[in-house]
Amino acid sequence: MKRGYFGIYGGRYVPETLIPALDELDRAYESSKRDKAFMEELKSFRSTYIGRPTPLYFAGKLTARLKGAKIYLKREDLAHTGAHKINNAVGQALLAKKMGKKRLIAETGAGQHGVATATGAALAGLKCEIYMGSEDMERQSLNVFRMKLLGAKVTEVSIGSKTLKDAINEALRDWTTNVRTTHYVLGTAFGPHPYPSLVKNFQSVIGTEAKRQILKAEGRLPDYLIACVGGGSNAIGLFHSFLNHKPKEEAEKIKMIGVEGGGLGPETGKHAARFAGGSVGVFQGCKSYLLQDDSGNILGTHSVSAGLDYASVGPEHALLHDIERVEYTYAKDNDVLEAFELLSKTEGILPALESAHAIAYATKLAPQLPDDKIMIINLSGRGDKDVQHVAKIKGVNL
Ligand SMILES: *Cc1c(COP(=O)(O)O)cnc(C)c1O
Repeated sequence: MKRGYFGIYGGRYVPETLIPALDELDRAYESSKRDKAFMEELKSFRSTYIGRPTPLYFAGKLTARLKGAKIYLKREDLAHTGAHKINNAVGQALLAKKMGKKRLIAETGAGQHGVATATGAALAGLKCEIYMGSEDMERQSLNVFRMKLLGAKVTEVSIGSKTLKDAINEALRDWTTNVRTTHYVLGTAFGPHPYPSLVKNFQSVIGTEAKRQILKAEGRLPDYLIACVGGGSNAIGLFHSFLNHKPKEEAEKIKMIGVEGGGLGPETGKHAARFAGGSVGVFQGCKSYLLQDDSGNILGTHSVSAGLDYASVGPEHALLHDIERVEYTYAKDNDVLEAFELLSKTEGILPALESAHAIAYATKLAPQLPDDKIMIINLSGRGDKDVQHVAKIKGVNL
């Protein structure tokens, strides 16, 4: 496969001015894999700072309730800052430091990636600036304050739609101007090469641990892996080690399922199900599936969870979809809210609304399976951040 491509997907659809920065990052990333000191430092922060390995928890009560396959939860919700995003943020912050950069920048919509990046910057002793649309800043004022507490500068973007799209443009402008001192932290397995591979690399610790943990708990590989898919980093992070498992015949028996934000349903136009309702195109630096109209204009998206509310999806998922190695489906907002409550009540775990998409699909699948089947669901984050949002939807006045 051509470097930087997943089949026909991926690549580098960026202005010429950014190519040297991407080349520099690619070289640093490749050499970091062979750099013992770097890998040791990353390993040490994973265990002492992030709190890895995160547990693989047998959800006995949920399993009993659904009367089917045995359900295990990979507890990324227990990682520092409450989600898997920290795995990537710490990895990229250390990589930036190794490259001699002094400053991290990122854009954020709901604030989750901004908080993770600000955390990574504090850990690595780097300056940090986060671009955020003024509309998002107002909606996510708590996360804005959180980033400031972590020492980051939050810059308001008040042009265009005043949301994520415009913040990305501003962050890219900053990077082009300050590339010698600055590293741009991309939050998911998306964008121009090498980001999709680099982010996967930092997130694949999820699947590496889960494989070891399930072999210890059950003495065999799982039958199903389920994860939600926004840009696709937690899903590819879980899948990767299982996709590459040897012998191949064993790996091929594992069914993998990615669950997108179904919103109000693909037929309504209010959704983020790129595989159900999208087509191939180029967006923000790479080729993949995306939600666009016949003239290639990006369509508006909707999902109850901000982390899945995005018009495109990581290029490796586009390939895994086309070769039918991973099945992509979606969960609708209503089912997601039901799953959110179900997991909270049966297991005492409030899932992030993103992760509740994977739970929603599992609650449909598990009862159809015999009780000797094993399923691992990636619980990508905790739901504390979503409590106010859920209250509002349910009409509860806090
Ligand atoms: C951001 C986020 C996601 C979606 O991003 P991916 O890159 O698709 O993993 C999922 N879950 C949580 C908790 C998130 O914060």
